[in-house]
Amino acid sequence: MDAQVTQTLYHYINGERVEGTSGRFGSIYNPALGEVTAQAPLASGDEVRSAIAAAKAAFPAWSEIAPARRAQVLFRFRELIVAHMDELANLLSSEHGKTLDDAKGSITRGLEVVEFACGIPQLLKGEYSENVAGGVDSFSMRQPLGVCAGITPFNFPAMVPMWMFPIAIACGNTFVLKPSEKDPSCGLRLAELFSEAGLPNGVLNVVNGDKEAVDTLLTDPDVQAISFVGSTKIGEYVYHTGCAHNKRVQALCGAKNHMVVMEDADMNQVTDAVMGAAYGSAGERCMAISVVVAVGDAAADAMMEKLVPRIESLKVGPYTDPTSEMGPVISPEAQSRIKDYIDQGVAAGATLVVDGRDIAVNGHENGCFVGATIFDHVKPDMSIYSDEIFGPVLCVVRAESYDEAVRMINDHEYGNGTAIFTRDGDAARNFAHRIKIGMVGVNVPIPVPLAFHSFGGWKRSLFGDHFIHGPEGVRFNTRMKTVTTRWPSGIRSGAVFNFKAGGEH
Ligand code: NAD
Repeated sequence: MDAQVTQTLYHYINGERVEGTSGRFGSIYNPALGEVTAQAPLASGDEVRSAIAAAKAAFPAWSEIAPARRAQVLFRFRELIVAHMDELANLLSSEHGKTLDDAKGSITRGLEVVEFACGIPQLLKGEYSENVAGGVDSFSMRQPLGVCAGITPFNFPAMVPMWMFPIAIACGNTFVLKPSEKDPSCGLRLAELFSEAGLPNGVLNVVNGDKEAVDTLLTDPDVQAISFVGSTKIGEYVYHTGCAHNKRVQALCGAKNHMVVMEDADMNQVTDAVMGAAYGSAGERCMAISVVVAVGDAAADAMMEKLVPRIESLKVGPYTDPTSEMGPVISPEAQSRIKDYIDQGVAAGATLVVDGRDIAVNGHENGCFVGATIFDHVKPDMSIYSDEIFGPVLCVVRAESYDEAVRMINDHEYGNGTAIFTRDGDAARNFAHRIKIGMVGVNVPIPVPLAFHSFGGWKRSLFGDHFIHGPEGVRFNTRMKTVTTRWPSGIRSGAVFNFKAGGEH
């Protein structure tokens, strides 16, 4: 065990903390210090199966509870999250490194999904058609699937799990969450708070783990559906493996989000937008802006003039300092991977305008910090453009025309988010219509849909047929059944041997 490790975490199965027995552990850092402070047990297949068994046992009773009563538990859960906001944010920042403000913001976005799920009686309302044939009525309803599982990334340890389990559970499913082994404490605490709100044991379970745990969830016949959020490489594997085992799978994956800046844009608005969208959460967001495509040199030069001084003066520091605007990245491995990308950008000939490789944060010399970095004159064949760096590194590409900008975005393998900054309504409308991306902003840099809409990307940013949360979340977590009824007192049609559309049944 590392000298600084102060805590060994646990799984949460059937309403209880359960010690890990596999003998394998993952390291959890305090990224601001660069020190391992805790370890998460990595579950064996048997440990995961015990969580699945608890969820399976809890399903019959939970799915039979009226949606309005299930919603009451969600209302209480909501109140507990609000009451524990500071505790949750501290837990999150201590393992992830993001500023407390940012941590609270992300928990609030998850909370909004809980609030959406409180409306589940309305969301599960079915459809009814009277007299589809003589004396025949027809209705459709949505029923829960059974045991659902969620596999989540490190960058939003509270919000992304809350994209998943509140809706799945509100629909009447039971759930096994496998949070990122890098920062699982928030997921564990949320499960405890849900129990405190009155959720029956076994309805929500949390197992910590790595590939072994994920593979067990993907192949176990008792798991009906998998929601995954993480990198494209793993998401594609999760999608194909889960589907091969007859599960419903949604896998939300990596991104390279472009922001188009037209010459007529308000450059003050652009500068504020880029600062938050590129460097918030140290660029570790699937909706971070990592490429600005400036249309024309005049747009690029006007933006750079305002942006560069702001980047140079960005306050980088630990979450414990309330004046920090950007925290560290998640681990020493992530730090060296990001610095390596900056080296590659220099070697490829991009202009490194602000270099964050050698940043020093007083008192945190070993912290996993990378300073805000910006490259100009980036070309599409450079790795800093093609790859998701997932750090505070912004690429500026200069396009000669609007059409070239659109083509570049449509040709990129990822399709999560994008934005255009302009005063021209025609250009904005054309952009929203033509762009092959799942979430589009007009003068909004991070167009994350609110909880009552659904979130998701196109191309290699999403595998599966459903976006997550909102109405798509309800569809993903339920299956439809259509019932056709006739009663003896209805109109008699006698025996029917043909198959007349819209006629007798
Ligand atoms: P990751 O793919 O490394 O991990 C995601 C999950 O998969 C974790 O729970 C992890 O334990 C598990 N996992 C890791 N390796 C595995 C393997 N070999 N087999 C099976 N499971 C494995 O992602 P990350 O580094 O935690 O998160 C960052 C990524 O997530 C970025 O690519 C980011 O864009 C993406 N992300 C996407 C969205 C979205 O909505 N599209 C949202 C947040 C993050």
